Amino acid sequence: MKILTNIQQTQKLTTLFRTKNKIIGFVPTMGYLHEGHLSLMKIARRKSDVLFASIFVNPLQFGKNEDLKAYPRDFDRDKKLCKNHRVDYVFFPNTKTIYNKDFSTMVNVENVSGCLEGLIRPGHFIGVATVVLKLLNIVQPHFSVFGQKDAQQVVVIKKMINDLNINTKLIVAPTVREKDGLAMSSRNVYLNPEQRKDAVCLFQALKLAEQKINKDYKGNVKYLIEMMTELILSFKNVSKIDYISFNDAETLKTCYELKPEKIKKKVLVSLAVRFGNIRLIDNMIIKY
Ligand code: AMP
Repeated sequence: MKILTNIQQTQKLTTLFRTKNKIIGFVPTMGYLHEGHLSLMKIARRKSDVLFASIFVNPLQFGKNEDLKAYPRDFDRDKKLCKNHRVDYVFFPNTKTIYNKDFSTMVNVENVSGCLEGLIRPGHFIGVATVVLKLLNIVQPHFSVFGQKDAQQVVVIKKMINDLNINTKLIVAPTVREKDGLAMSSRNVYLNPEQRKDAVCLFQALKLAEQKINKDYKGNVKYLIEMMTELILSFKNVSKIDYISFNDAETLKTCYELKPEKIKKKVLVSLAVRFGNIRLIDNMIIKY
């Protein structure tokens, strides 16, 4: 396994792989790897001749008051995990390499970036789309694997790839969870033991909505949101619910009502909950 830090060197290499018709798979991450990231690597490994991962904590997607400085990092551990998962190349640039002092081009994927996470974290998806486009141009993968854990990110990147005719595919991998259902996240390490116990409330609320919908609940989603809210607020370490939202899984248009449909439709149920300063997100796509 090789570590690459230079953009031109990486592009030269991936151009060579492309001319040799080697399938390049790619898993972009911000590091501090856990089983969720590793599941993406397993999927990508099976489908690629050459597997690239990137580790880059992207300052552009963090707001002023967010946890950029405190974001957990452990490159030595990440390196070992990548090697164990048969990653061929880890692209590990520093911030100045990605954003030189004259950098001034941003990618804004309109319509799908302003809602949900975008409402609470203005500019977040401009940062995400910009860095992902840069990484795609550097690594030139035939496909990348992204996690369903970040549902809105998937919608934003899919739309960017489509709108800008980027010659690459996106594969979406299911959310990997802890035994009790908590979605794995690099940020879970911030939770104290009491908060960690209560963090299961996100998954439990999603399951509650799923049960109701599977029992053929039709009507206003307000009722479901109220039930989910009540359940979450019954956990005493919860400080705030940022949102619980029902949206079209592809367009992210708000869904106010589950209507009886001839062909089953999919609704994206997503939520963000705070435990002190720690903010967790989760989601589920439910057929109705
Ligand atoms: P991050 O390092 O948080 O930027 O995540 C890198 C990639 O891993 C993104 O595509 C995430 O959606 C994905 N990911 C993060 N957590 C999980 C998880 N629990 N299950 C599956 N994929 C995940």
